[in-house]
Amino acid sequence: MSYNKKVAYFYNPEVGNFHYGPGHPMKPHRLSVIHSLVLNYGLHRKMQIYRPYRASTHDMCRFHSEDYVEFLQRVTPQNLQGYTKYLSHFNVGDDCPVFDGLFDFCSMYTGASLDGATKLNNNCCDIAVNWSGGLHHAKKFEASGFCYINDIVIAILELLKYRARVLYIDIDVHHGDGVQEAFYLTDRVMTVSFHKYGNYFFPGTGDMYEIGAESGRYYSVNVPLKEGIDDTSYIQVFKPVISHVMEFFQPTAIVLQCGADSLANDRLGCFSLSTKGHGECVKFVRDLNVPLLTVGGGGYTLRNVARCWTYETSLLVDEQISNELPYTEYLEYFAPDFTLHPEVVTRQDNANSKQYLEAITRHVCDNLKMIQHSPSVQMQDVPCDALPPEEERQPEPDPDSRQNPQDTDKIVEPANEYYAGDKDQDKMDTNDS
Ligand SMILES: [Zn+2]
Repeated sequence: MSYNKKVAYFYNPEVGNFHYGPGHPMKPHRLSVIHSLVLNYGLHRKMQIYRPYRASTHDMCRFHSEDYVEFLQRVTPQNLQGYTKYLSHFNVGDDCPVFDGLFDFCSMYTGASLDGATKLNNNCCDIAVNWSGGLHHAKKFEASGFCYINDIVIAILELLKYRARVLYIDIDVHHGDGVQEAFYLTDRVMTVSFHKYGNYFFPGTGDMYEIGAESGRYYSVNVPLKEGIDDTSYIQVFKPVISHVMEFFQPTAIVLQCGADSLANDRLGCFSLSTKGHGECVKFVRDLNVPLLTVGGGGYTLRNVARCWTYETSLLVDEQISNELPYTEYLEYFAPDFTLHPEVVTRQDNANSKQYLEAITRHVCDNLKMIQHSPSVQMQDVPCDALPPEEERQPEPDPDSRQNPQDTDKIVEPANEYYAGDKDQDKMDTNDS
């Protein structure tokens, strides 16, 4: 049978131009590199590309507190002195620095996830893709772990206007704490996070006894893993857990956070997944045939993040792409192999025994059985959409046309214009780790 899923891809050409600051592991530039690979592989021909909506303060306040959003809107590196007493209050400073254009960055990545949710609600697509989103650590009142606004929570709230039950799956190496916390008390959202747990690994939450509370009891699912997990072990846990979740929860929409810091040799992560193993999880979720929003997340060895999300874009549109990377202005990043799937070489041992993985899977599946019947949520009055109807917004050009004025979106600036320093940083870090 031919693949017939409609894929909507949300990309703001400016989102890759922001800088967290010298030496900071989070590099929005990775988004420009991915987009360049996606275009040069010709994947844009298999999907609809949208320049996404930009989230307003009003959109952000659907989850976050007004004083926090107002602070993000007003603070700049230049007026920082006037806000010193708020910095620690909102956990802004070291991990989550104030940088030029911070609020615009938040507005872009959040708007893209919200746009994806709206397109799914309106049945304009089967899969919505926003690699700039997935900032799963942000809390209602504060920033955390390089995340300021939680685009995932805001997108899920939008999905809940039309969808009775939303499943959130998180394959970032870090626990999806911000999303879990936001929906800890409800049975309308099930959060399932696979992550490294133990030895004070950030953020320190996500053990298997965090299961939700009140109406949300058994609707938070945590799969704590140890360092060094490889493809075989990860998939051995991922597939049965997600199959059980589908059986017991029966979601009507899925949000998949594809954090790429779970790949081998990540600058901050400690797992040993290959891009193929990571992608296998994405493909598995794709084939569940439920409307799907995929977002990015962590991922701190730039060339591997770019490989991973490019490959996963190809899986979502079901297009086989060559292992040899196409020419892009960033080709030098991928030396010496210049391939999509380089061999995984890691010194990290897999600390997850077969017995441990079986025990954790059993524990999770036993908890899921406590939800004997999927909750039947009565549809209430449907509130207005956050975004204006499609016809009132700017039409998007045909991505194949050479004539259209928005073609400039696809011209990615040469790397050396804004990136020379950070690139070396990345190379150094990999040699260290
Ligand atoms: Zn992460």
